[in-house]
Amino acid sequence: MSDNVHGKQLLVEEVKAVKLFLWMFYVIFTAYDLLIYYVKPLTIENPEEGPKSALGFWFFVLLFLLLPLAVYLIKKEKVYTVKYIYIIWYTLLDLLNMLLMYLGNRGNPFEYGSVLDVFLVLFAPIFVNKRYFWVVSISTTGKFLVSGLILLDKNTIIPVAIFVIISIVSFIMLTRFISYIQTLSTVYEDLNKKEKLAYVGKIATVIGHEIRNPLSALKGFIQLQSERDVSEDTYYPIMLQEIDRINTIVDDLMIIGRPKPPTFKQNNLNEIIQYISNVTSPLAENFGSKIVFKECEGMPLIECDEKQMKQVFINLIKNAVESLPRGGTVEVGCKVIGSDQIKIYVKDNGCGIDSEKLKKLGEPFYTTKPEGTGLGLMVSKKIIEDHLGELLFKSQLGKGTEVEIILPVKHN
Ligand code: ADP
Ligand code: MG
Repeated sequence: MSDNVHGKQLLVEEVKAVKLFLWMFYVIFTAYDLLIYYVKPLTIENPEEGPKSALGFWFFVLLFLLLPLAVYLIKKEKVYTVKYIYIIWYTLLDLLNMLLMYLGNRGNPFEYGSVLDVFLVLFAPIFVNKRYFWVVSISTTGKFLVSGLILLDKNTIIPVAIFVIISIVSFIMLTRFISYIQTLSTVYEDLNKKEKLAYVGKIATVIGHEIRNPLSALKGFIQLQSERDVSEDTYYPIMLQEIDRINTIVDDLMIIGRPKPPTFKQNNLNEIIQYISNVTSPLAENFGSKIVFKECEGMPLIECDEKQMKQVFINLIKNAVESLPRGGTVEVGCKVIGSDQIKIYVKDNGCGIDSEKLKKLGEPFYTTKPEGTGLGLMVSKKIIEDHLGELLFKSQLGKGTEVEIILPVKHN
């Protein structure tokens, strides 16, 4: 799905949350004030006692004045600002109201804190937004703190303490929401990746059977023809090269399509890497670069699938070569780590990879090259995982990349 579609869906969710917020805000505000100023006086003997709202009816008017602005902003798709405007406007009005109420009435002990404040803090998580939560929590608690400092009244400590506790409850709910949503989206992404892989697997099996055999027949005929027709030496090598290119793509696809596990045998990795370095050297020379192989002393025999390991080294070395500027170098080598693990590294001084792209390496079809397939790393990762190893990337943009393969020596 495109970012645009995601953006629209998020907007729809925000509109729903804002509408719910507005309904509850006005219903609670009106109902609470009716209760306090009209119903409660009927139930007590001396209704004139106790503090009265200083702004009184104007509090209503000034809050309802925001409604047309909220409707306008929702229509204009500026819905994300509505909740902030409300909390800021309400906090300022309420602070003013409190100060007016008590500054003129020093004798009355401070008794304040409306159910609307509780609603604002407790329902802040419906927007699933940490910044909004902090604005609500700090402005509500801060309102009581500021009036306490101005009025020099110790009783303001009570609402401050109550709203700190409510904020903690609300914060816990918010972090639970966020973590739940994050888990759901990673599960969804994983499923998506697996689905993609399953499709690629099916396509791969078909390609494997339908393309491989005719392709090798074609390659044989071209070789035969090139031996007969010695006068033409430009097109045959190109044809053979292109067939090899198709073959490597088919090889990559076959690994995904084939659920067969690797066949482990004891292999000398020094020899395998040396062989692949030699095979890929002409490619590097074409780019004006070179491949340097550093043989590893004391390397034990490694239990691995020779063909699959060759495929991994070709993929990694090809990527390294393709990242190089003219005259660059790829260094390939291995090291023994302890008694049961070895490390193979492919290091280049090429273009490097930035940290955002680094996270995407190994995703099916992820490529930044105009002619890339985005299969090489995915296949290499799968092969290494089947070998119970690890494929690690270290890279610095503009400086180069080092890919490390960690492999166990044995598999029992
Ligand atoms: P492809 O080579 O077909 O693009 P890969 O799966 O082999 O597919 O690689 C995916 C992407 O990872 C490449 O397109 C490139 O952007 C990046 N990449 C891999 N190795 C390197 C490297 N050594 N240096 C820079 N970028 C690399
Ligand atoms: Mg590649």
